[in-house]
Formats: sequence, C-alpha cells, structure tokens
Amino acid sequence: MVSLILSIILIGSSNYKIMLARIYYQNDEQRLKILQNHPDILAGNAIQKWFDVLIDEKEYEEFKNMNLKIEIQIPDMKEYMKENARIFIDFGKYYTYNEMKNEIMQIASQYPNITNLDTIGFSWYNKPILAMKISDNPQMDENEPTGIFTGVHHAREPIGCSICMDFIRWLCQNYNQPGGAGDTATFLVNEREIWIVPVVNPDGYVYNEIDPQGMWRKNQRDNDGNGYFNSNYDGVDLNRNYGYMWGYDNWGSSPNPPDETYRGPSAFSEPETQAIRQLCNSAKPQVGINFHSYSNVIITPWGYINDYPPEPDKTIYLAMADTMNDYNGWPYGNSSATVGYTANGTSDDWMYGEQNQKPKCFAYTFEVGSAFWQAVNDTNIIIQQIHQTRPCMIYLLYRAQHFVNIREKIYVDKVHFKKGFVTKDPFKSIPEKILSNSKIYDIMGRKTDKFDKSGLYILEDEKGNYRVILLK
Ligand code: CA
Ligand code: CA
Ligand code: ZN
Repeated sequence: MVSLILSIILIGSSNYKIMLARIYYQNDEQRLKILQNHPDILAGNAIQKWFDVLIDEKEYEEFKNMNLKIEIQIPDMKEYMKENARIFIDFGKYYTYNEMKNEIMQIASQYPNITNLDTIGFSWYNKPILAMKISDNPQMDENEPTGIFTGVHHAREPIGCSICMDFIRWLCQNYNQPGGAGDTATFLVNEREIWIVPVVNPDGYVYNEIDPQGMWRKNQRDNDGNGYFNSNYDGVDLNRNYGYMWGYDNWGSSPNPPDETYRGPSAFSEPETQAIRQLCNSAKPQVGINFHSYSNVIITPWGYINDYPPEPDKTIYLAMADTMNDYNGWPYGNSSATVGYTANGTSDDWMYGEQNQKPKCFAYTFEVGSAFWQAVNDTNIIIQQIHQTRPCMIYLLYRAQHFVNIREKIYVDKVHFKKGFVTKDPFKSIPEKILSNSKIYDIMGRKTDKFDKSGLYILEDEKGNYRVILLK
C-alpha cells in the first residue's frame, strides 16, 4: 500500500506541473467546499476571502468547474525554484539554522550579563532547539513579567527567525544606551524576562536547504517507522500538536500522516512541542507572539472553534490586538475571522487555554508577509516587516505587567470596546464620576493623573474593578 502511494505520487509529480494558486470564495458554502477538497492550505485571508493552495492541473480544472475565481501566483513551482536557485543558496537574506546558531552564540558571549542561551530540547535528528533569555540577572528567575516569542514552527516560514534574531540584537545593542530606543530596551531588559526561540523546528528548517522547492512545513518524525525520512509520508505539523483541544475535529488538523497538517499520534508527541511546553511551564510567560507566514494578520484564540475566550480576556485580547494594529494595519481576530479556517492543537490555544500547569498567556500568532520566501533576495522587505512587528513585541512586553498582576480583577463594561473604550479624549467620553473616583495607571503600570500618550490605560474604581481604556 505504501509503495503504491509512493509510485502514484512519483508519477504524479513527473507528469503534472505544481502551481501556486489563489482561490477566491464568496460565501461560507464555497469556503467549506474548498477546505473539504483541499485541506492543505498554504495561507488564507478571511477579509479578502481567499486561500492559497498548491495544485496540479487536474485540481485546477476541478476548482474551475466549481465556478471559483482562481489566480495563478506561480505557474510552475519546480521551474520557479530552479530559476531562483542561485539566490536561494543559504536561504538568501534569511537565516539558515547554522547562521542563526552561530549568531545567537556570538551574542550570548558578547552580552553575558543580560543573556542566557539555553537548549530547551532536541529535534528527532538531535539538533538543539535554542532559546535565549534576555533579562538582567539572566541566570535567575526573578519573578518579573515574562514574554515569549517564537519563529519557524513551520519550516518554510523563515521570516519568524529574522524577526526573533532582530529583537535579540535590538535589545542587546540598545541596553544601557542613551536615547528613546535605549530607554525602552533598558526598561524591558531590567523589568522583564524575555524568552526568544528563533527556530522551533530545526529539522524541517534544515531540510528546506535541500528540498528543491523549499516548501517543507512539518518536522521530520518518522511516521512510517522505516528508519529514514521520506517526505511523502513523514513529519508532524508542530502547530497542530499542542495539547489543548488536540484532535478536537479534522478541520485544519489531520489524522493522516502524509498530510501537511498531520497533528501527530498524540498531543505533545513531538520533542519540539514538548520543549516549548517545558519552557512555558517553567518560565510562565504572560504574553507572546508565535511568528508564522503569511497574509499579514494577527490571530487570537480560539483556533479550534470559531469563538473567543471568555470575558474579560476576549476584550483584553482584542484591545491589545487593536493597539498592535496601529503599528502595521493588519486585521485581527480569531483564526476563523482572519485566515478563514479553524485548527486544533495550535500553540496559542494551549499557551492561553492551559491554565493549570501555568498561568494563561496572551499569545498571538502573526502571519507575516505575502509569501513564504518573500524576502529571500531583498533585505528591505525584512526590515519593513521588522518595523511592522517589533513595536508589537515591545508593546506586549509593556502590557505584561498589568495583565499579570491585576488581570484577575480586570473589569470590562459590556460595551462594544471599539465604541466604548477607544477614545481621543477620555475626559469627554468617560463619565466624570468614573474618572474622578478611579485611579489611573499608565502603560508602564505607574499611577498617573494624565492621559498623555496613545495606548492602553487602566482605571481602577473604588470597588477594585478595572476598566480598559484604549486611548487613540
Ligand atoms: Ca531579570
Ligand atoms: Ca520514514
Ligand atoms: Zn505557519
């Protein structure tokens, strides 16, 4: 049976061109039909109503027969990668795993007072999964508000590594320096514990250096147990392997080993997700971003159903996303609202949803850019994407304080927060009685009596209830 599947795939790949196509839907019926016919979605955008998929000519005809609008993005993937082979060497402007490793080790030795480079686990092929902690007294657990940032759960999404490496460098180079960036970096290093994992999936990432299409997504688990890696059957989708509502249904998460979204034989079956679980259980982050690509959206839980966490967390999630949207203009919401499909076993559902072994973490997934290897030849694109994401990382780390210490008491009016809390002039839009009887905390958790910067403020009334104010 296995050899039969193998030969069909081999014949298929020699006879058919594989193209990257964008398929548009107009309604829910069409959306579900696409997902049913082609569950391996490269990227989706629920606002613009499209999915990007890899299809052969036969599938192209099938979609055309469904009367769907199709745009061919790349007519022949193999040809495309052949043409780009030269700039693809060493991943072009992106980091290879070894480049990441060398640089992170160099930074660790250059900044020993504020960094702690840790190996949090090993992949199936024994590659270290590196995590860098950045904080003052980095060897100690100082019980400071904590954030986590990760890249490359999915092997073909290198921008996450670039964003993580930039943030490491930015924090270290600006620490104790004069000026605005210096002040911010110094505050964050002194008052926060920041964990950064640039490459969660080293095996899959390294495999893309030899994969002719650079399109490998999963890790390299030996699904068929034949003792070696075969790309037509092996590998687990690490962002379907986390243990909160794992395997809830088969939408966006597959029980079949060859599939791109294969969730693994059991929750946390993979050494890579076990490493992140262990890190979260010990470091206890309260905020975080898992970087993926692509489609320029900010995703909140839930992933496994089209719903949100209970209040007030839903409002906190969306209010923070709304502020991050100021930095990049990206739409935000749960997976259904942003990428157009549900998926169980994702990192964010577990990071937020698991609240017994560790506190809840307000974790987001960012889908960065407009293609997996978008910037392979262009550093400017990477810089632009860093400018769209770094402020969000800084912002969330600032935010960690409030939602850590007072999150159990946060009170949110049953008003649609867009209307009720987004304001240009709090003195006009918030009843005077509430303002005059409340303590006001600024973005850094300090008591203040003025609203002088845009961002989140918190009001604490006489009864100890909290209100979120988003000042624009
Ligand atoms: Ca510290
Ligand atoms: Ca195998
Ligand atoms: Zn991804």
